[in-house]
Amino acid sequence: MRFAIGDTTVDVIVDDDDFIAPLSEFFPGYVPELIAAHRGTLEPDFVDLARGLARFAIQSFVLRSGGRTLLIDCCIGDHKEIPEIPGWHQRRGSGFLDRMRRSGVDPAAIDLVFCTHLHVDHVGWNTLRDNGRWEPTFPNARYLFGRRELADWMAQHDAGRAPPIHARALEQSVIPIVEAGRADLVDDGYEPGPGLRLVPLPGHTGGQMGLVVEQAQQRAIFCGDAIHNPLQIFQHGLSTSSCADPQLARETRTKILAEAADSGRLVVPAHFRGPRCAHIRAQGGGYAPVFDANV
Ligand SMILES: [Zn+2]
Repeated sequence: MRFAIGDTTVDVIVDDDDFIAPLSEFFPGYVPELIAAHRGTLEPDFVDLARGLARFAIQSFVLRSGGRTLLIDCCIGDHKEIPEIPGWHQRRGSGFLDRMRRSGVDPAAIDLVFCTHLHVDHVGWNTLRDNGRWEPTFPNARYLFGRRELADWMAQHDAGRAPPIHARALEQSVIPIVEAGRADLVDDGYEPGPGLRLVPLPGHTGGQMGLVVEQAQQRAIFCGDAIHNPLQIFQHGLSTSSCADPQLARETRTKILAEAADSGRLVVPAHFRGPRCAHIRAQGGGYAPVFDANV
């Protein structure tokens, strides 16, 4: 799947197209009546109300802009130890890199990799296993990690406080990049290319950042896990059980939606299935997604 934002082309490379989680566990406090009222928009791509499930994609975005190629988020990866999620544990032959090549993107042509945050489903393809070692997957890329995000996770890791699933992700997919000298630690406001800028999106994790594109009168924000599912556009106060600071995540999400409704900025979260992105319309004191093939 491909779309364009101004002069930037965006290819969506999917690693797991139907990851499911019980609504009641992943979205504590969701209002069933509100979701049911919008089931015509949310089903079948984003929820399965009969089974009480939310549906997600785990995917990367490849941006080609101004002669540079930027990969946003690195999904799950192969051969990773993730026993908490059997479908992701020691995966083999998932075909992610082949799908990338079929989209016309040579992994060797990736100039920059940007991880919005350092959760297990955003860092996996940073590395490949080679003779028992984790080596950078993209041989010519610099990897952009948020300075604060990495510091937060390393502090948790070194104190033994990081949840094991994320501690292992650091060990398999982040620390090897740092040790290989391939990481650039970046702060809010960093510009990875013309018309591209990193912005803070705290709450889901302490140091999550998004990427804003502003080119040729077109605007978008790649907002990672600030919004997981369109049901959080209808119920914008709804944070997830995986958010480190649900209140701050709520404030960040509300700000993204208000700005998008105001400016026409396209919202591109990490885990939307279907059209993968949405415009936002203010509606009745809240918000609604507008899914438009002609983004
Ligand atoms: Zn995620």
